[in-house]
Amino acid sequence: MTLYNPYVKRIHELFIEKNPGEPEFQQAVDEVLKSLQPVIESHPEFEENAILERLIEPERAVRFKVPWLDDEGKVHINRGYRIQFNSAIGPYKGGLRFHPTVNGSVMQFLGFEQTFKNSLTGLPMGGAKGGSDFDPKGKSDREIMRFCQSFMTELYKYIGADVDVPAGDIGVGGREIGYLFGQYKRMKGEFTGVLTGKGLSYGGSLIRKEATGYGLLYIVEKMLKDTAEDSVTGKRIVISGSGNVAIYAAEKAISLGAKVLAMSDSSGAVYDPNGIRLDVIKVIKEQEHARIKVYAERVPGSQYLENSKDLYRIPCDIALPCATQNELDADSARALVANGVIAVAEGANMPSTPEAVEIFQSAGIRFLPAKAANAGGVAVSGLEMCQDSMRFFWTAEEVDAKLKNIMESIFVKIRDAAAAYGMPGDYVSGSNIAGFLKVAEAMVAQGIAY
Ligand code: NDP
Repeated sequence: MTLYNPYVKRIHELFIEKNPGEPEFQQAVDEVLKSLQPVIESHPEFEENAILERLIEPERAVRFKVPWLDDEGKVHINRGYRIQFNSAIGPYKGGLRFHPTVNGSVMQFLGFEQTFKNSLTGLPMGGAKGGSDFDPKGKSDREIMRFCQSFMTELYKYIGADVDVPAGDIGVGGREIGYLFGQYKRMKGEFTGVLTGKGLSYGGSLIRKEATGYGLLYIVEKMLKDTAEDSVTGKRIVISGSGNVAIYAAEKAISLGAKVLAMSDSSGAVYDPNGIRLDVIKVIKEQEHARIKVYAERVPGSQYLENSKDLYRIPCDIALPCATQNELDADSARALVANGVIAVAEGANMPSTPEAVEIFQSAGIRFLPAKAANAGGVAVSGLEMCQDSMRFFWTAEEVDAKLKNIMESIFVKIRDAAAAYGMPGDYVSGSNIAGFLKVAEAMVAQGIAY
């Protein structure tokens, strides 16, 4: 899609000029601006209120130093970030990522995307993201704890249950959230729902751990039913990654009667023609924190593939990229299409390159972008905030039913928005438009506040 609307074109040029050297942020904004053009043309009030200029600029971006001591007493310095992108529809909300690839561009792209995703859930949450270039791999429990405590010693100034509620993301799971929560409580002297993804013993929600992966399957199931009276049952699925999102996507896929053929990590992939044994993956990844290669050593008939991307060369019906940004490139997309894939849904954030998305869309593959497809995680985080405020907790069945309902309603919103603006079946545009409209209307209503 090209840029044809003069206002959008001008904002795009301004954006590129102001954000040089930020490729991920540019990629995310580029896609959104292109797909918002028909909306801008039919809503002059958005230009009058400079909505696009305001939307692409984070409300606040904090960068801070995180000093910490390793087990030998050596001092290390990492960078911490919190990008509070947009608070038009609720307190800032978005995960924390601890990974060596974290930088300002990655944080801004994730915070920007989060704004639309949170809007799609229908829950009152603004967009944010944060994290650090700290690498948790190979660190002891005590080192992780000291890092989290130092990180929170600065971050606590900017967050709060009604201000900004971080959660986990890559490298930040239940253990890290526990250490972060403990330090926040100590610094502020208050027990509030300031973080989500908490343990069940101190204010966490049932189904939060499973939410992103389960939600991904709920929306894929809804899309297949809606577009083809079809279902996930009996389908062959490949899932990249073997972290939180991938594992629980696989769990729900298997429980719906699909066969998961392959999973991966950053060093390689495993292919099991008999269907991946998730019990073995969980032991390797959740308990032993080992490489996925071990799976092929333990499960007869399975095979190790040296390159993670080779997973996309396996013939399958559905592909679920659940690892990291830009992991699914044009070559992988071509291989999937040639092998007859019928649907691709993004569990990770922006895992498909723009070229890959283009290939899927022009081949008529049903493609669900991350903003819609992986919104289940933040949706249950929103439900966790709700439960913390009520000081009353729902059963797993209740949370799961609400999650399913939210994912199905997201599909309806993005399908209808795409159709209303003349792009039926284009769920990328549908997600951007539906997510945008609610935020833009709230920004107009609140005047030139941010
Ligand atoms: P985890 O850290 O739990 O898992 C990430 C997984 O991806 C690991 O198995 C990792 O392997 C693997 N991986 C990393 N890079 C590659 C690569 N290039 N090729 C193949 N595998 C790779 O993270 P999450 O599961 O929490 O997050 C995954 C994605 O989902 C991220 O994009 C995140 O932003 C997104 N997301 C997560 C949500 C959540 O609730 N957790 C919510 C919404 C989105 P290794 O161990 O080798 O690094």
